[in-house]
Amino acid sequence: MPEQATAPDVVSDSFRRSAAFPSDAFHVYDTTLRDGAQQEGLALSVADKLAIARHLDDLGVGFIEGGWPGANPKDTEFFRRAQTELDLQHAQLAAFGATRRPGGRAADDPLVAALRESGAPVVTLVAKSYDRHVELALRTTLEENLAMVRDTVTHLREEGQRVFLDAEHFFDGYRSNPSYAVEVLRVAAEAGADVTVLCDTNGGMLPAELADVVARVLEQSSSRLGIHCHDDAGCAVANTLSAVDAGVSHVQGTANGYGERCGNANIFSVVANLELKHRREVLPAGRLGEMTRVAHAVSEVTNVAPNQHMPYVGHSSFAHKAGLHASAVRVDPMLYQHVDPETVGNDMRMLVSEMAGRASVAVKGKQLGFDLTPDQVDTVIGQVKDLESKGWTFEAADASFELLVRDVVAGERRRHFTVESWRVIVERRPDGTVASEATVKLETKGERLLATGEGNGPVNALDRALRSALEQSYPELAELDLVDYKVRILEGTHGTDAVTRVLVETSDDEAEWDTVGVHENVIEASWMALEDAVTFGLLRRGHEPPA
Ligand SMILES: [Zn+2]
Repeated sequence: MPEQATAPDVVSDSFRRSAAFPSDAFHVYDTTLRDGAQQEGLALSVADKLAIARHLDDLGVGFIEGGWPGANPKDTEFFRRAQTELDLQHAQLAAFGATRRPGGRAADDPLVAALRESGAPVVTLVAKSYDRHVELALRTTLEENLAMVRDTVTHLREEGQRVFLDAEHFFDGYRSNPSYAVEVLRVAAEAGADVTVLCDTNGGMLPAELADVVARVLEQSSSRLGIHCHDDAGCAVANTLSAVDAGVSHVQGTANGYGERCGNANIFSVVANLELKHRREVLPAGRLGEMTRVAHAVSEVTNVAPNQHMPYVGHSSFAHKAGLHASAVRVDPMLYQHVDPETVGNDMRMLVSEMAGRASVAVKGKQLGFDLTPDQVDTVIGQVKDLESKGWTFEAADASFELLVRDVVAGERRRHFTVESWRVIVERRPDGTVASEATVKLETKGERLLATGEGNGPVNALDRALRSALEQSYPELAELDLVDYKVRILEGTHGTDAVTRVLVETSDDEAEWDTVGVHENVIEASWMALEDAVTFGLLRRGHEPPA
């Protein structure tokens, strides 16, 4: 945000920009960096926050709430660095903060000064609208709370910032004292706040009652209304949509629904529903197709494994279990999905399991770009059934399945490298630390390569050794990350020993893929999954294995 400052003429420039797009007619307001960051276990550095802001801007949200400058040193730092390091194309930054202290003056309040000096064109002020909270938590009078809202909004407007008001605990406040809750909104709007946001801070509302309150407030309100929902009753997205139905035109939410307790309204679900179901353009043209990528990119930054069952953007959101409906999916995919996955940048997937019928294998083959002959379909089904009886699973290992299909089509196993041997040692040192070291010998492109790798565990060490050997010929393998590793011991059947199944999830900057290995030995099972993972990574980069 190079040109944003607090001078009035600069703010009018940001108004002009918002008039172009995102249209000021409807606000998509993201609070991942402030409310989302409250999620248990989430810790974002300033660099993380800047990276997430870039991703959200790339998606095309209208506003990015960056944090609470003045109250939190990291957030002060974020706004300082944002001025030179963020070049936002769509979004405007919003600084979040409270109204001035009781009994003081906004112009003299240090926290209000931090908002004023944040460089953000928008300030979102949180205010109490629940009478009991004013008296018990804020320990002031209802009149003084209104004066705090009026004074702070007026002051920031005079200083040239656009002001939104988050009315905290609004719905509880409305139940307790509706005229006071609405009076807080009225005072804020009169002082110049151009959005007043109704917050279901405790997250306990249900859609019908919430919509009813929104409709009644709208009749008495002169400002634009917004909605901010938490998911404690599992209704955050539904509540947000019903508020839109009732007339709000500003929605708040967080990436992947991050937030404290049960999370906030998932902004991706909200936006996809508005665009695809309400047919309302709330993102710049063409940006919705970036949503799946952005959702995963944000997960990479937060280091929270993506929920694969997330609506619209999950890895499983459009995954169909094979069998009965596979043949119908082949006729018309829309018979079995609510929207076309491509609209949100996701893909339909057919899951392959021992229940796999001919139709699902044919569909799956087609998705991978192969027109399988009836014989090839039979061979694939035969191999899948045989391997699944030995403990393999392809439902959760798409990439390994694709390699199997490719080998059937090629009529032989084709790989970019052949492994001569590997070795791994695990050492517990006198100081109590445990370290692993692996050595891998392999041949690729006619060259014999040897590499070692160290890691905190044997699989980690093997992964590093395998990739550092191959990186000599394929440098782009450095971009792969092993993101998830699952081990399951499977009971032996019919007198056989127990086997170990390992599932590995690998990612590059665009996608994730899953591979599988099965063996009596957990390290060998892991190795098989790693080999598949790297092979698939090379295929993704356009490297065809030699015949
Ligand atoms: Zn909240």
